[in-house]
Amino acid sequence: MSTNVSAGIADALRDVSARIDAAAKDAQRTSTPRLVAVSKTKPAEMVQAAYGAGQRHFGENYVQELVTKASTLPADIRWHFIGALQSNKAKLLLNVPNLYLVESVDREKTASALNKAAGAAENRTEKLRVLVQVNTSGEESKAGCAIGTAAELAEYVAQSCEHLVLAGLMTIGAPDKSYEPAAFASLVREREAVAARLGVEAASLELSMGMSGDFEAAVRMGSDSVRVGSLLFGARQYPA
Ligand SMILES: *Cc1c(COP(=O)(O)O)cnc(C)c1O
Repeated sequence: MSTNVSAGIADALRDVSARIDAAAKDAQRTSTPRLVAVSKTKPAEMVQAAYGAGQRHFGENYVQELVTKASTLPADIRWHFIGALQSNKAKLLLNVPNLYLVESVDREKTASALNKAAGAAENRTEKLRVLVQVNTSGEESKAGCAIGTAAELAEYVAQSCEHLVLAGLMTIGAPDKSYEPAAFASLVREREAVAARLGVEAASLELSMGMSGDFEAAVRMGSDSVRVGSLLFGARQYPA
């Protein structure tokens, strides 16, 4: 890959990080949200370039693509799985020793398959951290459990999945360009419901929300982790 492409990725990382910091400051937040670089469909060389610029958290949507990339890239990368997960792929996904977080659990069947795979994985000493994905836009095309149902699923993970840790909630949101998008507000409320059901502090559950087009709004509304792809690595071909 050309040095120009590498330099472009490093510049984009700096720019997005500065915008995250500015949005956090604007909202008087004391912690800095994490940036997850979404590298789906992009070559491993681009991931390596971002890694070289200091980036450690990366997100992927397809199990086989993640398995392949993880096998050739540095072991201290923290991989986030953010795509639709078929239960029969859970075992393959757990082959990735440095899988850090599965963000897209939206039904008991997936949680149960991940729990089983995490329990059987010999390369893991820690429990697998997961997020419950909520469909906050109501669009049928979007993944995620329905608003009002995350507490039930979270309780299932917390009580019936001994090899999983419920780390928080994730959403994709809606194409809403307002200063405080309604979808992000509803994820904040969903977290209140989950925290109340589990008897934990809301702040102990992280929120993953915000992508290339809306990460600053998400940060202002309390996102702990933004998932940014095209702004860092360039546009993707449809349908990815
Ligand atoms: C592709 C994807 C992203 C990144 O999207 P961009 O708009 O390219 O930043 C974030 N989250 C999920 C769940 C995705 O599928």
